[in-house]
Amino acid sequence: MAAQEDKLKDVIGHAKEYGFVFPSSEIYDGLSATYDYGQLGAELKNNIKNYWWKAMVHMHENIVGLDAAIFMHPETWKASGHVDAFNDPLIDNKDSKKRYRADVLIEEHIEKIRGKINKDVAKGLKRFGDDFNEEEFRNTNPNVLRRAGEIKKIEDRMQDALVNEKLDDLKKLIEDLEIACPLSGSKNWTDVKQFNLMFSTELGSVSGESAKIYLRPETAQGIFVNYLNVQKSGGMKIPFGIAQIGKAFRNEIVARQFIFRMREFEQMEMQFFVRPGEEMKWYEHWKDFRIRWHKALGLGDDAYRFHDHLKMAHYANAAADIEFDFPMGFKELEGIHSRTDFDLKQHEQHSGKKLKYFDPEINDSYVPYVVETSIGLDRMFLAVMSKSLKNEKLEDGSERVVMSIPPALAPYKVGILPLTKKDGLPDVARKIMDDLKVDFNCQYNEKDTIGKRYRKADAIGTPFCVTVDHQTLEDNTVTIRDRDTMAQDRVAIADLHSIIDAKVSMRKLLKAGQA
Ligand code: ATP
Repeated sequence: MAAQEDKLKDVIGHAKEYGFVFPSSEIYDGLSATYDYGQLGAELKNNIKNYWWKAMVHMHENIVGLDAAIFMHPETWKASGHVDAFNDPLIDNKDSKKRYRADVLIEEHIEKIRGKINKDVAKGLKRFGDDFNEEEFRNTNPNVLRRAGEIKKIEDRMQDALVNEKLDDLKKLIEDLEIACPLSGSKNWTDVKQFNLMFSTELGSVSGESAKIYLRPETAQGIFVNYLNVQKSGGMKIPFGIAQIGKAFRNEIVARQFIFRMREFEQMEMQFFVRPGEEMKWYEHWKDFRIRWHKALGLGDDAYRFHDHLKMAHYANAAADIEFDFPMGFKELEGIHSRTDFDLKQHEQHSGKKLKYFDPEINDSYVPYVVETSIGLDRMFLAVMSKSLKNEKLEDGSERVVMSIPPALAPYKVGILPLTKKDGLPDVARKIMDDLKVDFNCQYNEKDTIGKRYRKADAIGTPFCVTVDHQTLEDNTVTIRDRDTMAQDRVAIADLHSIIDAKVSMRKLLKAGQA
């Protein structure tokens, strides 16, 4: 636990020191759960967006983009169910006065039991080595089975309480499990209450209920209300998708863990419209595509796992999360939801407008079913940063801090470094930069020793450094240093473009998604 907290602290410290993420309005001591992206953070964020947009929109002929407004007609949120049902069950500890999400407290308790199972498995592995059959052990070991049964019972009770809104049962479950406040250790809990997560404000100068509008809690509704506009104006045929990147706002009860859970955040969502009855096929398709998109980045296949939802959102008939191994453990990074025709039917009812699609292939009209992929951009940012940040021990006993950000996402692709400020070396370096910067984001740096400049480039994840020295003046060659291997090669200036492109281009990632 302590190691996890240290790791997150490292990431937060590094993010601030190098200009990735700052606390919002820091000179006023910041605003809780709100962050600003600095000069390098903005680049990394843009690169993640670009990877998502290219993979989802440009690589799919039947998916197009949209950029809808944050404000929407207030009836939208009644129709979508958010006014009535976008609630979290909250519970306060009377001694520490800390507020928690009741379901999160229970889930953390379940995680602890899971941790014990994993410990047993690790022990078995240590004892039996190569002969250890993990699957058999998990299916037969009495301790593991007892604990798995315990988890199942808790999950069933929680699901029943959440789905049927039995808030007293939720409290009873917390008491029965003897869950204590992580801060005070006390088990003195208030009743569980529902808390709506939408931020509201007022339109123009009118006040009162009639002028109340909401900051969108998800980008999806902007897509739903525009689906026929896009379908008709774009001549789209089902199945087709609409993708959008934009801000969303939620008044989260437990807003902590850095940019993992913020009150203002950004989503990358794609709604895929399909024929009724075909949604499960597409649900599986998008689960598969999205996990490939993630794994292509090379952060490690074991950093991801699927988690099927126990409590389905009010609109879904199937839902899974892609969880990522964050410094705080495995947590939701992306959701894939089969949203049925719930949203479009609701909008039909509330707006009085027909939202049916005429399918020429079957000569019939219907309200399409929707499969959604929804990923938090900020969580993706944290995933990339936390897995990439490493303290490496080098062969000579020294250490270096390196961020092995996937090259296609790195803020700068190349550092351009003249060995000295004299003898015309900066002029040559500038010329190289002028040529490379057309295609790659480059950083020019002539301060400090070359060793220090390499370390700085490593710390911000720059995949290549190009050093211009006196030999360059003689034979038009430079040294190119690789961030990951630290190998330095002498190459012709004329070859730089292709060497860099081979490593930093998004092409490889996009092709992997196609497989
Ligand atoms: P959680 O269970 O963690 O609250 P959720 O299931 O409510 O998340 P969704 O409504 O499925 O989340 O939203 C889709 C994605 O948006 C999530 O997978 C996550 O990456 C991102 N997201 C949701 N809430 C936040 C938040 N408060 N801060 C940052 N990202 C968020």
